[in-house]
Formats: sequence, C-alpha cells, structure tokens
Amino acid sequence: MKPFKSILEFQKEFNTQEKCRKFLELQRWNGTPACPFCGSINVCRFASGKIFKCRERGCRHQFSVTVGTVYENTKISLTKWFLATYILTVHSKGISSLQLASMINVTQRTAWHLTHRIREMLKDNDPVVLIGIVEVDETYVGGSLKNMHAKKKKSMKGMDNKTMVFGALKRDGKLRTRVITNTALENLTGTLEEFVAHDSSLMSDESNAYTKIGEKYNHKTVNHREKEYVRKEAKVSVHTNSIEGYWNILKKQIDGIHHFVSPKHLQRYCNESAFRYNNRKTFQDEKFAYALSNCNGTLPYKTLIGK
Ligand SMILES: [Zn+2]
Repeated sequence: MKPFKSILEFQKEFNTQEKCRKFLELQRWNGTPACPFCGSINVCRFASGKIFKCRERGCRHQFSVTVGTVYENTKISLTKWFLATYILTVHSKGISSLQLASMINVTQRTAWHLTHRIREMLKDNDPVVLIGIVEVDETYVGGSLKNMHAKKKKSMKGMDNKTMVFGALKRDGKLRTRVITNTALENLTGTLEEFVAHDSSLMSDESNAYTKIGEKYNHKTVNHREKEYVRKEAKVSVHTNSIEGYWNILKKQIDGIHHFVSPKHLQRYCNESAFRYNNRKTFQDEKFAYALSNCNGTLPYKTLIGK
C-alpha cells in the first residue's frame, strides 16, 4: 500500500474489490494465506484468485480472505467498508450514521451497523498498564432525552439515562476508559487497579471513591469543592485537567453527533473516542491499517444489538 494523506489518494488505492481483497490478505495473513478453519498454511488458491482450498486431510474447506472476519457474509462491498473505515478512523470528531449513509450511499440502518462494527475494530486489543503520573476521574454521559423518540422517552421516564464512564490518562501518554454499568465501588476501584500500575502517582479529585484505593499509590488530590484546580508541588503539578479535557471531547462526540447512546453501545463509542485520542499524532494510513488488522472475528447481529 502506498501511504495516503488524503481521501483522494485513499480512493485511488482502494477503488476496486480486488485491491481491497489484496490488501486484506496482506493485513490478515502477511502474505501467507492460512485456513480459517484449522489454521494450516497448506492451502492452494483457485485460478479465480479469490477462493482458497485447504489441503489438510479432514479439513479441505474452501474459504476466501473474509471468512472469520467482520466482512464475512456482508452484502456491502469491501470498497464501501474500506471507505467507511477510513472516514471513521481519520475523522477528527466522529460522524453520525446519517451522514455516513449519505457519503457512501447506503441506508442509515446499514450505516449504523457498519459504524458499530468498525468501532469494535478500533478497540485497543493490547492495552498497556499505565505507569507514571496518571490522572483518574469518572464522568456521566448519555445524551439528552429531548432527541429521543417519544415512545422511548416515555419508557425512560424517571430513569437516569446517564451512564458512568471511568477514565485513566497518563500525562503525555495513553488514555483508557471503561463504561461502569454496575457502579458498586469495587467495580470502579478494580478497574483503576487494572488500568494503573501501583508505582504510579495517582491524581484525582477528592472524591471518596479514590480514598481507600489511593493508599496503594502515591496519591495526590485537588479539592474542586474548595475551587482548587491546580496545585504546584516541588516536582509535579497536581491536577486532573487532562482527563477532564478529554471528557469534554467525549461528551461533544456523544451529545453533539450521536445525540443519544444507549448504555449497551456506549463502550464502543468510548473505544472510538479513545482510539482517536490515542492516535491523534498517527498518520492516516497507519490508523486505517490498525483498524483493518483488527477485522478478525465477526460481530453477529444478535450480539451487536444485545438481544
Ligand atoms: Zn483447514
């Protein structure tokens, strides 16, 4: 693949099914096709170029590069999939399914499914444990009820439609977030310990949630209630401004673009947003290639809609 720096260059590179398939083969198999059923590389390619056959005795399956990936059994062309993936990965703020639908000429319903599957591909598959100066905080997101369908609004009446998201951000480093649907304290502190190494300096507000767990860290707090936002200490500035700045980005994405996000889908939006934040200095072609390298595994419709 030639490095691309714009949508024009991207489209030149991926304007046919064949070019997309070739790229996928490279991303997925690194040039050595492997049977998705038994893992063997003892396979042959049919003359058509698209279909392979496993030579292993007892297997002998036929397959194409999309088997076992998010593209398996899709009715959408790979060129559209790739373009949608490109748009989602390079867009600086995210995009609504309505807007994507008109850009790639599919129905909004199709665009919605595409975006969720692509968000799944933006998940950090090899998350690092944060170590150093790490800011932690929690926020509540969920969008406003005013954009919701009247019938649904009625059923939500009296319910708090905000969902907790916990975040940890290493200063000048990576961000990790998790939707906390069960807000029991152990859930929050368990996630914190999973995200942040004990040798770290932990920065938080003075919320009680962090008092006990903070004993395991070099814990420093700022007292927002006393209007204290930054405190200069000998070696370090004590504040949580970086993670709070990130919450603004996340909320702008969710409230401004998607309007209402149900708690069961929220983690995917958070994955997308964290991907964008963590890769803000990454080149377009690298972001796109990362997403594609995560195409293994299908996200069945039933899992997607959570029924
Ligand atoms: Zn096989």
